[in-house]
Amino acid sequence: MKILVVGSGGREHALSWKLAQSERVQTIFVAPGNGGTAVDSRLVNVEITDPAALADFVVAEGVALTLVGPEAPLAAGIVNLFRARGLKIFGPTREAAQLESSKDFAKAFMQRHGIPTAKYQSFSDAAQAHAYIDANGAPIVIKADGLAAGKGVVVAMTLAEAHSAVDHMLSDNAFGDAGARIVIEEFLAGEEASFIVMCDGKNVLALATSQDHKRLKDNDEGPNTGGMGAYSPAPIVTPSMHARVMREIINPTIQGMAKDGIVFTGFLYAGLMIDAEGNPRTLEFNCRMGDPETQPIMARLKSDFATVLDHACNGTLDAVELEWDRRTAVGVVMAAAGYPDSPRKGDIIDGIPPETPECVTFHAGTMQVGGALQTSGGRVLCVVGLGDSVKMAQKRAYETVEKIHFNGAQYRRDIGWRGLK
Ligand code: ATP
Repeated sequence: MKILVVGSGGREHALSWKLAQSERVQTIFVAPGNGGTAVDSRLVNVEITDPAALADFVVAEGVALTLVGPEAPLAAGIVNLFRARGLKIFGPTREAAQLESSKDFAKAFMQRHGIPTAKYQSFSDAAQAHAYIDANGAPIVIKADGLAAGKGVVVAMTLAEAHSAVDHMLSDNAFGDAGARIVIEEFLAGEEASFIVMCDGKNVLALATSQDHKRLKDNDEGPNTGGMGAYSPAPIVTPSMHARVMREIINPTIQGMAKDGIVFTGFLYAGLMIDAEGNPRTLEFNCRMGDPETQPIMARLKSDFATVLDHACNGTLDAVELEWDRRTAVGVVMAAAGYPDSPRKGDIIDGIPPETPECVTFHAGTMQVGGALQTSGGRVLCVVGLGDSVKMAQKRAYETVEKIHFNGAQYRRDIGWRGLK
């Protein structure tokens, strides 16, 4: 079969890399892809980003199913459009994607269905937001309602930071429509984990757990980023925690959507905060795989992913039992100079070693220019090492990272540190 993967990041490279291992797959198109998917002989980049043109392409090429990586096309309704044309696609409809595309929607949903999350209130009026902050004190968290590519959240440790975040979003209109409404919520302390499941509308299939590293610098310092690395599995999600998250968060979410008249299909990603007493609460939902979590998760998946996706599109995920590599996978992101504020483009990348059973390098912000590989975005590569322990996986990832060179490369040296505790 032919498969189309929509997106251009490390997540999409990892998804298509995994799909390409399936004997059932003839061709994988990646739209628009990146410098890594461009040179993999099993993958074909397609220069289309418009959903209607992609649907035409799928029909013309006889593509069997489409997998969507990023949130923007989902929120814009690519699944609605494909389904209306009778095309198989895995992802949430525009309505279901509101769990991610509107934090106000997600918080009201969680409150209505008793899903544990931080206490909150929504505002579009700056004076009311300032008064709420004064009444509740700091630390406190300010979030733009809409999609803001991971930049719309301010964890304010002081009242001054909280007030200035409100001014930035509501008065200065920093995020446009996405920040015309804000959610202000209680600060939650604890350890984060990423809990991702696949849902076919009826059945829920949990993927391996993982943990992301949002801050730019070692020891979780510096500004928030799209993610500087991730590892899988996350030891904090013990089997009993896993059962509890399914019971208290994932199942009530899928059932709650159904009660509200929305059938949920696609990846559901719950960003969890697990407090010192071991209580999980939902920080956010995403309606897609995480980036960089996908890279270590796909590196550990042993099952035929094309078959899994086919079941997901046909409503038969109950027939699937996933098999995972027992080793730990640690994915280290190498980012461009100037990331996250103003990533520099055009630096020459060299030294990427060939893939081995212990280490694979996924591309994100890269492009091929006249036979040379150059940086073309913030997060450039994600190097995933596999090993019997977090330490061994880390060692293998960093051995490769040190062989790769581009001017101004930034990376953390401590990805997976919580797993070493
Ligand atoms: P993403 O890029 O993951 O989609 P996002 O913009 O949707 O991010 P959130 O995941 O809601 O934003 O928040 C980003 C980060 O801010 C979280 O990973 C967490 O570290 C921190 N955070 C969010 N909400 C809270 C909270 N209530 N208490 C403490 N920290 C929080």
